Amino acid sequence: DDRRAVGQRLQEVAAVTRLPLRQVIALPLVFRQTRVGVIYVFRAALNVAFTHEEQELLKAFAEQAAIAVSNARLYQSVLQDKQQLDALIEQSADGVMILDGRWRITTFNRAMEQLTGWPRDEAIGRPCAEVLAVTDAQGQNICLVDCPLQRRPPLNNPIVEGWVDARDGRRLYVQSRYATQRGPQGEFLGAIANVRDITEQKIEAEMQNTFISVISHELKTPVSIIKGYAETLAREDASWDATVLRDGLHVISDEADRLALQIQGLLDASRLQAGGMRLDLTDWPLPPLAAQVVERIAAQAGQRFAFELRFPDDFPAVHADYERTRQVLENLVSNAVKYSPDGGTIRVAGRAGTDHAIVSVSDQGIGISPEEQAKLFRRFYRIDNRLRRETQGAGLGLFLSRAIVEAQGGRIWVDSQPGRGSRFSFTL
Ligand code: ADP
Repeated sequence: DDRRAVGQRLQEVAAVTRLPLRQVIALPLVFRQTRVGVIYVFRAALNVAFTHEEQELLKAFAEQAAIAVSNARLYQSVLQDKQQLDALIEQSADGVMILDGRWRITTFNRAMEQLTGWPRDEAIGRPCAEVLAVTDAQGQNICLVDCPLQRRPPLNNPIVEGWVDARDGRRLYVQSRYATQRGPQGEFLGAIANVRDITEQKIEAEMQNTFISVISHELKTPVSIIKGYAETLAREDASWDATVLRDGLHVISDEADRLALQIQGLLDASRLQAGGMRLDLTDWPLPPLAAQVVERIAAQAGQRFAFELRFPDDFPAVHADYERTRQVLENLVSNAVKYSPDGGTIRVAGRAGTDHAIVSVSDQGIGISPEEQAKLFRRFYRIDNRLRRETQGAGLGLFLSRAIVEAQGGRIWVDSQPGRGSRFSFTL
């Protein structure tokens, strides 16, 4: 547009190329009324002007060039959009996979690789029913027997939930939500799936179910013992001597205590869930309480056990809730007994750090595998083994113990070797 600017350009180019450039012509590249660039054509000859034909030819060339340039730009921006979209899919915390019209995987993000254990280059091109083989409770592959993407009439946003065996042996419970793409006749063109690992929630829900059956058993047992003894002792046609009577009443009293404890545990757990535990923090010496707890449990534990208390003489007073701490100690010591079928030494020990005290309860029982150690403190969690089926418990003891210890500002943990024993420690 600007002759002076064009003239200046000519000089610049001549200086760089060291060619005797004498003439220049600027051809704007216009595509759909938009200027997409300019082509400069230089000529060294001084006296031969650009002819009309040459100019026409160059104009035609410029039109072609304009189309090419704008195509390239369009391609670049589409490419950029695609790269952005790919990055989004790749970074998504959910597993994302895209399926083509034949249910084959075309995109498979990193979360998906982690979830399924399938490397992307192996997953791509395979049917989704193979890579994400979701099975129902009976072990049937849902994707093969009742693929939700192939239902008639078609579902818009089907959801599949079920178990998946990851390639590295993990077993997961996943939820897969699909957004489907359909043609004008409703034919399946493809889908995008969002896959989430909801194993934790599933286990929690199953634990709730187990809990209900365990707890009803736990509550029913003492009730039926109390009822049995009370009925027997109350029989009109029998007269009991004083010892039998006293023993019977002791059983009733013990079972009532157990029942009360169970109910308390349940109330504590639900109160905790509702948020908040009231603590009564005071300073008091811990060794006498530990001695009391051990004495009471030792009286019931039998001859197979040796109990030890190890506290240094200068063990400082602790700042804690007395009754709640008793509860923690009772849980830990009674677990030590419950999970040591062959007896052994149970030691309650304490030592003082700079600003806290550590109390530990150790046993020589069955021990706990490293994988289970992480899960023990969960609500309703009980390790599935033979002993579990034989011992009573609702899987609340350690959950409540942790809640109490943490509410007091401490922490609780376990060190254990399967077969050798366990040591539970907490700080105050
Ligand atoms: P419960 O004893 O009622 O099952 P807890 O929350 O007290 O519930 O304990 C959870 C699980 O942790 C138990 O079922 C048991 O399998 C395991 N456990 C607890 N203490 C010990 C221990 N001292 N030794 C081995 N396993 C233990």
